[in-house]
Amino acid sequence: MHEYSIACEIFEQVIATAKAHEALEVRHVILEMGRLAHTNPEQLSFCFKAIAKGSIAENAEFIVEMIPLSLECECGYTGPVDETQIGKDDLRSELLEYIAALECPVCGKNARITGGRELIIKSIDIETEIEKLTSRQANI
Ligand SMILES: [Zn+2]
Repeated sequence: MHEYSIACEIFEQVIATAKAHEALEVRHVILEMGRLAHTNPEQLSFCFKAIAKGSIAENAEFIVEMIPLSLECECGYTGPVDETQIGKDDLRSELLEYIAALECPVCGKNARITGGRELIIKSIDIETEIEKLTSRQANI
């Protein structure tokens, strides 16, 4: 399963970071995920919890924050996609996979999608003997 291998990578980074800070326990793992990351947040969370069993991250809260798509246009515009243009139903995320370009809100030409495939560990909240630390960002 796709999500399982990603969860493994996240787990390894979380544990490495936690150990570097001599953590006793990992409290939160916050992930930023682009809407085009082709990853199911619920499955990812499920896999992470399964992998983390018996580790210091066993009771960590696994939080996935979705990041909107962003656009870049030849007119110089860069910004987030207005997702209300795309529609509201559950098909939205699937439809997005097939959209190569969207209209620029400034000039109306086709603009490139530049963001939305991210999968980033935003922060890891750990408990140490001395104090609570919020760790650095790490790219997967
Ligand atoms: Zn434009």
